[in-house]
Amino acid sequence: MLKTTNCGDLGEEQIGSQTTLAGWVSRRRDHGGIIFVDLRDRTGVVQVVFNPELAPEAYQVADQLRAEWVLQVQGTVQRRPPGSENPAMATGTVEVIPHAATILNSSLTPPFYITDDVEVDESLRLRYRYLDLRRPKMYRNLVLRHKVVKYIRDFLDAREFLEIETPILIKSTPEGARDFLVPSRMQKGSFYALPQSPQQLKQLLMVSGVERYFQIARCFRDEDLRADRQPEFTQLDLEMSFADEEDILQLTEELYTGLVESLTPEKTLVKPFPRLTYDEAMERYGSDKPDLRFGMEMADATDLALETEFRVFHSVIQAGGIVKGFAVKGQGHYTGSNMRELEQAAKDAGAAGLSHLRLGQASSIEALEEEAVQLSPGLRMPVEWSRRMAQRVGAGPGDLILLMAGPAKQANLWLSAMRTYMGERLGLGDPNAMTFAFITEFPLFEWDEEHQRWHSSHHPFTSPATGEEDLLDGEDLSRIKSKAYDLVCNGAELASGSIRIHRRELQEKIFTILGYPKEEIVARFGHILEAFEYGAPPHGGIAPGIDRLVAMLAGSSSIREVIAFPKTQTGADLLFGSPAPVAPDQLQELGLGLLE
Ligand code: ASP
Repeated sequence: MLKTTNCGDLGEEQIGSQTTLAGWVSRRRDHGGIIFVDLRDRTGVVQVVFNPELAPEAYQVADQLRAEWVLQVQGTVQRRPPGSENPAMATGTVEVIPHAATILNSSLTPPFYITDDVEVDESLRLRYRYLDLRRPKMYRNLVLRHKVVKYIRDFLDAREFLEIETPILIKSTPEGARDFLVPSRMQKGSFYALPQSPQQLKQLLMVSGVERYFQIARCFRDEDLRADRQPEFTQLDLEMSFADEEDILQLTEELYTGLVESLTPEKTLVKPFPRLTYDEAMERYGSDKPDLRFGMEMADATDLALETEFRVFHSVIQAGGIVKGFAVKGQGHYTGSNMRELEQAAKDAGAAGLSHLRLGQASSIEALEEEAVQLSPGLRMPVEWSRRMAQRVGAGPGDLILLMAGPAKQANLWLSAMRTYMGERLGLGDPNAMTFAFITEFPLFEWDEEHQRWHSSHHPFTSPATGEEDLLDGEDLSRIKSKAYDLVCNGAELASGSIRIHRRELQEKIFTILGYPKEEIVARFGHILEAFEYGAPPHGGIAPGIDRLVAMLAGSSSIREVIAFPKTQTGADLLFGSPAPVAPDQLQELGLGLLE
């Protein structure tokens, strides 16, 4: 090795010892003929002091150094002179006095400073990702990611799970997104699809008798990239035979608890993880991924809204919609301009409007006086109504009540966005809390109004809930519950999974409901349907996303911070410059041409 010690490992125990270091020049300062170099490697930074009198040749070398040059030094570790210690540096009590220095490589002036405390435009960071990753924080994120994956591997290995690789070139898998396609050269006109997940492969492994499978799997989905998604992402893909929902949820809870407690002990958890059914989550939080770090539970107030003369409420309710709201503790004092900000936030979330009640101070809700309540303009109602509304949404004196009206699905969406907005505005989400919860009993299907057809809420391989199979022959499929579950944390979905269908007949029936013609069912899914006829065991699994989890553990708001080479929001790789055109002869070889 060209070095004997890591820069960041030097401390008082090494004082007096000889060391050889190699790293990058983080900073070079010339102080009256003495050159100070902060030398950085992956472990940290140490100060090297070049004195022309002690080591003239090394000093000559130091004189040429610029930022990010690669340097090797041999020298003695010594205690820094009193008064020159730097408590902000981990190695701040020592320095290295070199007797030799060698330039291992020079560097162009980097396009940005390689330190944690500068704001750099993200596209510049991605264009020079190899320099961006030199920043200590980015390296720490890579280390954390490594540790998360290692923890997962060790955890599952100890429970007799086998890590098995599955192909990247496969056939389309219906996970609800568009496939990335790869043209076949040998069979012109035919295509592979990149897996949206190894879903069918892991199920086939269960038919193979593997019983316990996992994989740190790359998944590919050609979606329009909504905030903080990547076209390729990593999941812990996991499947178990002879397991029921409870087994999978317990395993997942144990894994996440252990992982967070051992890798980020400063984070707080709620144990056991709360569980809510999908219906409950929608009712109480208007969302199937509620942020449970704070309250602001919702309540339906459609009946109370009908008592008002507010036209908006009446027309929404007549059209089958609802009025629902929640209380914001202690914010009854909001001013008109505060309320306009909230109304803007509601509009940004897509809502037509936001109604409110601002409750003043009183010893109790019953004691609330008429003058102490301010209602939004549409709601001219007596205080007695406001008191009942307060009771409905759990508000007390001094609180603010927010109400929204709309078709149930939209109203929930808007209210949930509003709840998130208020949570952020009031700083209610403790950044150190990781409040996990399981959401269970998702509906099996969702009605797609636009295309007038049913979709699987999770994916078509999900089993209906016990006893609900008969409902598949009924009219209203939206009532059917499934054995699908999600793990959510702080308002984000971290994992989805389900107990699967393992009988051909039922699986075929689901495909038929989803609108696949018979021939297409055979063409697309014949392999798995056939496999189910050879003694497929009952099985189920889950697939936790690794990127989001690591980002949360790292305290990063973007998953791009924890992916070594991520793509931009428009799916571009700014470092390699992909996607990129290919040469005409490459297309020809594949039997492809481009439409003008
Ligand atoms: N394959 C599913 C997904 O990617 C997860 C699962 O059901 O295991 O969402």
